[in-house]
Amino acid sequence: MTGRAQPHAKYEVVIGLEVHVHLRTESKLFSPAPVRYGDPPNHDVHPLDLGLPGVLPVLNRRAVELGIRAALATHCKVHPQSVFARKNYFYPDLPKGYQISQFEEPLATGGWIEIECGDGASRKIGLTRIHIEEDAGKSIHDSAVASAEGSHIDLNRAGVPLLEIVSEPDLRSPEEAAAYLRKLRAILRWADVSDADMEKGQFRCDANVSLRVHGAPQLGTRTELKNLNSFRFVEEAIWAEIHRQAELLDAGGAVVQATMHYDEGRRTTRVMRLKENSDDYRYFPDPDLVPLVIAEAEIDAVRAALPELPEDRRARFEREHGLSAYDARLLTESRALADFYEAAAQSSGHAKAVANWMLRDVLAQLKEQGRDIDETALAPDALAKLVALVEGGRVTAASARPLLAELMERGGDPEALVRERGLEAVSDTGLLEAAADEVIAANAAVADQVRAGEEKGLNFLMGQVMKRTQGKANPKAVREILARKLRG
Ligand code: ADP
Ligand code: MG
Repeated sequence: MTGRAQPHAKYEVVIGLEVHVHLRTESKLFSPAPVRYGDPPNHDVHPLDLGLPGVLPVLNRRAVELGIRAALATHCKVHPQSVFARKNYFYPDLPKGYQISQFEEPLATGGWIEIECGDGASRKIGLTRIHIEEDAGKSIHDSAVASAEGSHIDLNRAGVPLLEIVSEPDLRSPEEAAAYLRKLRAILRWADVSDADMEKGQFRCDANVSLRVHGAPQLGTRTELKNLNSFRFVEEAIWAEIHRQAELLDAGGAVVQATMHYDEGRRTTRVMRLKENSDDYRYFPDPDLVPLVIAEAEIDAVRAALPELPEDRRARFEREHGLSAYDARLLTESRALADFYEAAAQSSGHAKAVANWMLRDVLAQLKEQGRDIDETALAPDALAKLVALVEGGRVTAASARPLLAELMERGGDPEALVRERGLEAVSDTGLLEAAADEVIAANAAVADQVRAGEEKGLNFLMGQVMKRTQGKANPKAVREILARKLRG
């Protein structure tokens, strides 16, 4: 990649994503072997996963249910009938010589998800289709594991249930692609479809990228970047590919449809193989499997069991709790967080204050620690009590903050902690009067400024009184006392 010119000034970037996501099932899609991560190689393998003859596939209905969940959560139409097809290709980690997938008749089509663009606006990205398929095994070329003589094969992953979720070519920048992936992953987790842990290979992405001159009627020729396994790599790889294509086009060349590999070290993309067509896979309906028939009643039952979805939750938080769109979005980033906030808001009776504590203090700590709320010791009720103590003037925000950190770490009862530590806010007027007198005497010049009407000086003096009381002085009382002493 040479130069850092802005190719998108001349070209429109067009991106469509194919996401492969593992379903949260106990067993594989067609065999009774368990789905587990971190087992010794080739431990979770049934004869079917090995492609041994004489064994027939039996469809895992739980996988179908999760597929329907994903489809409903992304506004797709679930089809009453879909068909499993064999996708034939040779690779050592595919012992059967074909992958069972869906081709002409997928599980679901025609949905969308909404992403937030940089400018605060949101946009709907179309979903072309969702289909069910099985994963392949894993080839291990890593020299730390494989011997010098060759590669190793681990078939634990062979037959693990997957959804392939294909987007329309609606994305217009690498940032939008990343936003789409984050949103999709959040929805899948929210609906309990998948843990979607990228490090475990449960959420993988192929990115299709093309350029066209702004306003051109047709899409340009695309290339496909395979197996991008982190959000950062998705963005980097797409940028690298945009630059490569722009240079080619600028030089009067043409993009050739191909499967690309992203070299993380060099930050460049190169052709891995010229693109195969679906013809190359000789798809045909799997004769061992009957068509997948889904009754309307089954779809209705899944819909009824679906939790309230993130967008609906967000809209409700705005409506019922008076939160801004931005705050509501932050508090609905995961279902655990939204549930936590709602429980705390309800039990404290101070929804807005609870939101503020979560947005300002709790989220900052979670981010710093790389945890989700349910991985801390903080209970919704504890946060509710702490906020009620602050709102009732019994504890200052300054005292509450370190307490919150402690509650997140070890849990506990805020009221008891406040009592034990003697953190009760000081509203004792005599004490505060004395402290205020001392501060005024020690800061005569500032006190004069305040007498002359300067607000900044008053804040400074308040800070000094707070310091003298170890942050326990009731700020409202201090302000009143200082104002009275200096302004009469
Ligand atoms: P395949 O299965 O062969 O990869 P599909 O037709 O299923 O082909 O398309 C795969 C992805 O490529 C989809 O996400 C689609 O939106 C995207 N796509 C199709 N055409 C283009 C294009 N010209 N530029 C960018 N993405 C594209
Ligand atoms: Mg593809």
